[in-house]
Amino acid sequence: MNLILLGAPGAGKGTQAEVISSKLGIPQISTGNILRAAVKNGTEWGLKAKAFMDAGDLVPDDVVIGILKDRIAESDCAKGFILDGFPRTVPQAEALETMGVVIDKVIEISVPDEDIKNRLGGRRVCESCGASYHVEFNPTKAEGVCDKCGGKVVQRADDAPETVLNRLATYHEATAPLVDFYKGRGKLTTVIGQSEVSDTSKLVLDAVNA
Ligand code: ADP
Ligand code: ZN
Repeated sequence: MNLILLGAPGAGKGTQAEVISSKLGIPQISTGNILRAAVKNGTEWGLKAKAFMDAGDLVPDDVVIGILKDRIAESDCAKGFILDGFPRTVPQAEALETMGVVIDKVIEISVPDEDIKNRLGGRRVCESCGASYHVEFNPTKAEGVCDKCGGKVVQRADDAPETVLNRLATYHEATAPLVDFYKGRGKLTTVIGQSEVSDTSKLVLDAVNA
């Protein structure tokens, strides 16, 4: 089963991808997490990506497509995968088709912009494993410590309010057209993001029949 989670930044793609991943036993592939790890490790991809990410702009398609291609070639993806944060542009979606990747379902998590702004302000992520939390809606058990791996949980630089506005604008301009792209291919299911993570999970799992 190859799945795509689509939605604005902070819509809950990463959180729901974690839920589906453990339920179906297929890996979650977050291009954002891969890019952040590349930046942290100072790799060549990371050096190219950093300035774009800090500004809340998209990293160029060729970089992200290269990263994604390498990742899905790994053996743990043989039974399927969940893409979280890819594709984010129509050319990225076309690249998947060119690679011969068959997507079974695309789940759009729809959340109004006003809610997105509140959510991103309170978002925290684990520096080590990328797990995401929210100070109010999905807190860690111990403050600042990841429930899953014990890593340090921090606020992302690009969750600053000015950057959030740019990321939202970029979403509407570059990524939202993918809703129609996948609707036209008969693959799209839209789920309304709920305030409780578990309520959204029920809808998302229904949508993938898991
Ligand atoms: P969010 O979904 O909260 O915006 P991500 O962790 O998915 O956050 O992405 C963080 C940043 O990484 C994006 O703002 C962008 O700069 C970069 N990025 C991640 N995935 C892609 C992609 N598919 N194409 C271009 N840039 C990407
Ligand atoms: Zn962690």
